[in-house]
Formats: sequence, C-alpha cells, structure tokens
Amino acid sequence: MNALPVTPLEAWTCRKIGRVGDPCMNRRDLARYQLDALNRTLAHVRRNSPHYRRRFSGFSPEPLKSLSDLAVLPFTSAEDVCRDPLSFLCVSQDRIARVVTLETSGTTGGPKRLFFTEEDLELTVDFFHHGMSILVDPGQRVLILLPGNLPGSVGALLDKGLARLSVQGIVHGPVQDPQAAIHAAVEAQADCLVGIPVQVLAMACHEQGGALAGQIKSVLLSTDYVPDAIAARLHRAWGCRVFKHYGMTEMGLGGAVECAARSGCHFREADLLVEIIDPGTLQPVPDGTVGEIVVSTLTREGMPLIRYRTGDMSAFMVDPCRCGTVLKTLGTVRGRLDGSIKVGHRKRFYISDLDEAIFGAGDVLDYHVGIDAADSIDRLTLWIAVVNPVRFAETEYRIRSAVLALPAIGTAVADGRLTVFIRTADRRMAVSTGTGKRRIRDLRERQVYP
Ligand SMILES: [Zn+2]
Repeated sequence: MNALPVTPLEAWTCRKIGRVGDPCMNRRDLARYQLDALNRTLAHVRRNSPHYRRRFSGFSPEPLKSLSDLAVLPFTSAEDVCRDPLSFLCVSQDRIARVVTLETSGTTGGPKRLFFTEEDLELTVDFFHHGMSILVDPGQRVLILLPGNLPGSVGALLDKGLARLSVQGIVHGPVQDPQAAIHAAVEAQADCLVGIPVQVLAMACHEQGGALAGQIKSVLLSTDYVPDAIAARLHRAWGCRVFKHYGMTEMGLGGAVECAARSGCHFREADLLVEIIDPGTLQPVPDGTVGEIVVSTLTREGMPLIRYRTGDMSAFMVDPCRCGTVLKTLGTVRGRLDGSIKVGHRKRFYISDLDEAIFGAGDVLDYHVGIDAADSIDRLTLWIAVVNPVRFAETEYRIRSAVLALPAIGTAVADGRLTVFIRTADRRMAVSTGTGKRRIRDLRERQVYP
C-alpha cells in the first residue's frame, strides 16, 4: 500500500485540464492538453509578439501534430529577453499588472524584464495555493521571508495563495537580521517558514535559533538552488520537514515543488511544458539524462515564452515518484551551466558540487568563491563565513577534505594544476547577499590578481 499521499498538484492539474474521475488522468491525457495549449500559445505569439513573429517567420504556421514537433522551433535565450523585452509583449501595456526587473550578469542588453497580466498572476496564486497545501494545514501560520511589499511580488502572491487555504501568511521579507527574523517567527507563532536557503540557515545557526525547535513544522526553501546539505541541517536543527521549490520569474515565479516523498520536484505541467536538452547538440535527451531545462509557457497571456533556455541543469527521473503521481519528477538541479567551471584537464565542476561539499562540512553559514591563475596554476579561493570562528581550523580541515573529494578538483590538485585556499569571511555575508545567486568569480582570462 502506498503510504505517501499523492502530490495535490495532480488533482489540481486534472481539474485544470478538464479531467475528472479516478484515476483522473494519464500521461496521454496530459500530453493532449499540453499540445492544444501549446498550439494556442504559438498562435497567440505569432499574432501578437513582434519577436516571435520575426523568429517564427520561416516556419510553418500549421498547428504542431505532436509535442515532439516543438523541437523544430528555435529557442528563446535570456539575451533575447534582455535585448528587447517589449518585443515579447502580446497584450497592450495597460493590461500589464506587474513588471519584474532582474539584474543579469550577461553582456548583452540591459536588465531582464518580465511582464505579467492580472490573469498571469492569478495562475501563480493558484499554484501557490495548491502547492503550499503539501506543507501546511488550515489554521496554520507561515512567515514569508521573501520580498512581498509590492503588489504582485512573490511574497504578496504567496500570501494570497495561502489565504485560500485558510492559512495566515505574514510577510517579513528577506532576512536582514537573523535574530529579528527569529523573533518575528516566535511572535507570529509561525508553523512554517518560506525563504532563501542561506538566510533560513542563518536563523537556524543563530544562538537564539533553538527557540524555533518544535514550533516550526515545515520549511520551504526557494529562490536559489537548494543544497541537500542545507535542508539536512535545518531538519536537524528544528526537527521539521524541509521541502524544495524550483522556479524562476520566467516560469511565472513558481515552477515545481516537492511532494511528501521529498525526493524531487513536480512541475505545474498544466502551465509549463518542460524539455531537457543536451546543451551541446541542442537535442532533447531521454529521462534520466542530465541536460538543460527548457520551458515553454502554456497559459500565459502577457509575455509567453517558447523554448526558453533556463541555463539550469537537471534530469527527469526515470522511475515514478513514490507518491504515485503521473506528473514527472525533476531530479536534483545541479545549478546553472554558466555557474560551472573547468579546472586542470578541462574537468568541470558546478557551484552545486561546492555547495554540497561546503555546507555539508557543518558550521558553515555561507561562502564566496573565486578562481584566478598564477604561473599557469589555477588558484581556487573559498571565503567561508562560519558560526564559530574559534573553531575555524577544524571547519577548514573538513571543508578541504570535502572539496578535494570532488573528482574535478581532487584530480587537478593531484596533477599540480590547481591549488585551493580557504579564508574566513564576515558572518554577516549570509544575509547581505540578499536574493542574489552565488556565482564563481573567474578572473583567469582577465589575468587579474587580487
Ligand atoms: Zn511525488
């Protein structure tokens, strides 16, 4: 007997695609719905978006016959969106209820801007409503440690979704001061926290963080790549269940969330069509193979995206989830392709590899990483913020062992092509980085030596 409840996203998806009964849908029902929704979206963007009208001009306007036909259409890149965001718009600007501006590290264009109509935002609220029912029960309280002051911001939409579950949301905003956030959680009698991994970790590691043990029953980690090592440390600190959310603004702020099995995220497949492609050949890869996540929006009006390359690397799992859903399960997100780096004999490691090694060493609050070169030897420098600076030597030893155990780094060090330096950093770093994603600062090509 299956002891785990099926993700509530399944029944929700059934309703959204117009299916009822038990079992309410199979993959073929879902694929049929997705194909119709995709063809509607393609017709919408061809008619209304100058970017896609131009981009698809050489392709047949006939509706696609199967989802695999999508592979003939060109991709959309982050650079396309940065270069001319308004050319993606499919409705008049007065229908736009929310603009999200994202600073990018890219070289082309300005910041990335994403536009949402009121109806687009409603889709996100609906996802948050059903997605959060995995974590909380009616009558509970959630402290929201995400930006939420502006109407249509992620925290405000989450608050709205929670209200539909009869759950009280309290928007605190990102953690500036861990002690103040702990007090806010105690004061609000919060049962659940939703926040950014290193910021929630800073609360758990604070000397007063123990006050939340037993009170906090569940945590949702979002916004950034979520290291397993941080989820495990929060579980140990508070005895709570820790869930991951994977998503980005381009997906409509919400994307995929773990179920009770907590071994991979299920997407909102009625709103998003997800492909995994080989970033080298650009061809779709089979389930079980790691590749780049590519999304097409199926229900968005204001600024639909077709085959948007997220830059995030992951795989769909081959085996069905233990919760028994027909929805696909996304494996560990290994971080961004441009967040990976080659050392020594061109072996590649990801920032997510470092995250697991470093946060798994315990006592670590956050870290920064940079790489430069001297006399043709690469130098990897890790600036580590720890809970207890007095015991830094012990922590440094554990970190060094864990980092050298990563094949790319261990091999390059053994070959004399890489040295690893570990330094202390200010412990306030964990909260000062805000919602920014961690990146490896690669100074090798510019030959700048700090
Ligand atoms: Zn599941």
